[in-house]
Amino acid sequence: MIEIEPEIRELTSLLKTCNRAVVFTGAGISTESGIPDFRSPNGIWSRMTPISFNDFVASEEARRESWRRRLQIHPDLVTAKPNRGHRAVAALVRQGKAACVVTQNIDGLHQKSGIADTQVIELHGSTTYARCLDCERRYDLAAILEAFATEGTLPICEHCRGIIKTGTISFGQSMPENAMRRALEESMLCDLFLAIGSSLVVYPAADFPALAKGHGAHLAIINREPTPLDSIADLVINAEIGTTLGVAVGVD
Ligand code: NAD
Ligand code: ZN
Repeated sequence: MIEIEPEIRELTSLLKTCNRAVVFTGAGISTESGIPDFRSPNGIWSRMTPISFNDFVASEEARRESWRRRLQIHPDLVTAKPNRGHRAVAALVRQGKAACVVTQNIDGLHQKSGIADTQVIELHGSTTYARCLDCERRYDLAAILEAFATEGTLPICEHCRGIIKTGTISFGQSMPENAMRRALEESMLCDLFLAIGSSLVVYPAADFPALAKGHGAHLAIINREPTPLDSIADLVINAEIGTTLGVAVGVD
């Protein structure tokens, strides 16, 4: 704690002088809410291989496995509450310091912390709803999970018979155009890009910090472990997110 204090002071001063920050978040901001990340030692990556989009579409067994996994994490996702890091980010948005949050997360916790849907740009979609892959109609998850849990029914779109998947973007699936365009614009316009809790190795999401820096923004990174972009950052804080941001923003 004592040795990171000067860095927190530096973060506070970057936040004070900025007028239009982008807060960019990864799975690390949600670990303090009990949702495991991908690449930490006990992360999801070390326990199961992600199911690619092509496999999901091509194989009924992959779809079954995907819905089994979704069902398994459902209780934790529903009960997860925003933590001090989310609350600090919400305060920055409320104060008008941050124009938006660009997130790789699919857990909906930024919205739960009080940030309007319109100010959360979800690069990898959301697991809080389901969607038909053909006609893009949205479906409520509760009924789908219930039918899968009790009868093993795989969801099919009642309008076009298309395959239904959660609203997340899987490996191999195309990125959501609107979210990508908005994130690109915001990254080019911001004066501070604050990357929090991301290993910064998943592309194209990890392009945005360098883009912002290239357009004149300060780049600050808060992450427990080093990232490949530390060398171009103005400030790197290797510490816990909740405490660091909570102290810097003045939020409990
Ligand atoms: P990642 O797992 O690759 O990296 C998370 C980083 O956060 C790690 O470097 C880890 O050291 C750090 N971290 C974890 N907890 C921390 C804490 N309390 N304080 C400080 N640092 C902490 O995550 P990523 O870069 O977001 O990429 C993973 C991909 O997986 C994303 O595409 C995302 O869509 C998906 N994912 C999302 C969730 C979620 O929505 N909560 C969870 C797991 C995976
Ligand atoms: Zn459909």
